[in-house]
Amino acid sequence: MTIWTPSSEQPAVQDLEPSDRLRRLPDGRVMRESTVTLSPQAMQQVIDGYRCARCLEYEGIVPLGAFPEECPLCKFPMRAEQTRQLEQDFVGERPPPVSGLPMDRERAYLEKAHYSKKGYVTPGKDL
Ligand SMILES: [Zn+2]
Repeated sequence: MTIWTPSSEQPAVQDLEPSDRLRRLPDGRVMRESTVTLSPQAMQQVIDGYRCARCLEYEGIVPLGAFPEECPLCKFPMRAEQTRQLEQDFVGERPPPVSGLPMDRERAYLEKAHYSKKGYVTPGKDL
């Protein structure tokens, strides 16, 4: 058995990189999406409705409780839209987060994602 607790000092956003995916905005413009890597803890907060799925605000939402009517920062309608937004943004793109970090799968993914990029170093086995 592995019991694992993410550090409370872990940054919520661990990585931010341009994505191949494009999104058409309601006004017709096409934007390139970003791929945001969240800490497992932050991801859980999004799932639980304490972190905004659009702007990732957290501190201002906690006092309001889970899934407030709208995000106090960006006005994203969390109660109505957050779950749908999550399905659109996360499921199908990458494996959905599961409790208990699957290190083997995570390592395999990271190696695959970074191996072909010039200048990246493959993580050592004792990582
Ligand atoms: Zn927000």
